[in-house]
Amino acid sequence: MTAPDPGLTDLIAAALGDKIMHTNGSGDRNRAYAAHVALVVEQHTNGRIAELEAELEKYHAEERRELEWDRFCAQQDVRCTECGLRYGERKDYTCPHIGEHKYDADELRAALEGES
Ligand SMILES: [Zn+2]
Repeated sequence: MTAPDPGLTDLIAAALGDKIMHTNGSGDRNRAYAAHVALVVEQHTNGRIAELEAELEKYHAEERRELEWDRFCAQQDVRCTECGLRYGERKDYTCPHIGEHKYDADELRAALEGES
């Protein structure tokens, strides 16, 4: 078990000190009680931080998936330099001009890498 943060213990001791000081008259007991409360607060806080970090990680993963999807779609939208057919449809139709559609390699790469 880790020792509670002394700063947090001080804060709690200050907040509770006056109230329990008068009932038992012992500053040491107050300090021990404050340290105990600080530990409980820290454990709770660490748990919440871990939860929030997990949520943030899920959010970032979702963001990355959306970005990849957007770039995939951008690449599918690149047009054949000869007939204007979308890259995504190149296998469904033959090019009326040259048989095989022609796409600008730089344009395809730029779309996939998110350059505009
Ligand atoms: Zn074409």
